[in-house]
Amino acid sequence: MREPVRLRLPIAFEPLPRYSTGMTAARYTSFMGDALEQAHAAVAVDEVPVGAVIVRDGHIIGRGHNRTRIDQDPTAHAEIVAIRQAARFLGNDRLDDCDLWVTLEPCTMCAGAIAHARLRRLYYGAEDPKGGAVDSGVHFFDAPTCHHRPEVYAGIEGKRSAELLLDFFRGRRD
Ligand SMILES: [Zn+2]
Repeated sequence: MREPVRLRLPIAFEPLPRYSTGMTAARYTSFMGDALEQAHAAVAVDEVPVGAVIVRDGHIIGRGHNRTRIDQDPTAHAEIVAIRQAARFLGNDRLDDCDLWVTLEPCTMCAGAIAHARLRRLYYGAEDPKGGAVDSGVHFFDAPTCHHRPEVYAGIEGKRSAELLLDFFRGRRD
């Protein structure tokens, strides 16, 4: 069985300009800024600030932020919302060659959805020791029952992603 690929990027990972040059740009362009934009949009509607985008061939084909309360849907996590939009866009339940950028380490449900969607790469921001399921908790992609493992890149804009969440919950307590 293939070992999951993990690469820990420094927090100050600087994205290159979007559509500059072929392969290099595709490999090193960060879409975490777009995921963070989604997380900010969640704050505006009083939802927990987690945002996600799905990218294929350098283009965003799905976006989402947490909307569990607005939709009265416990499954409406940012990743699920973005996966649904991308699958509709492609007219396919498999998101081959697509990458997911999300501001927080995915939970067990979302890790399951990532595997079902056959996403190629997962880039996430802040670690979530309490609710995460990739490098925390159940380590979903390491389980023998997991049949698809994306490449995982952790810690991209992790500090900004975590601060957004901390500010949100701090604001709620006040
Ligand atoms: Zn989730």
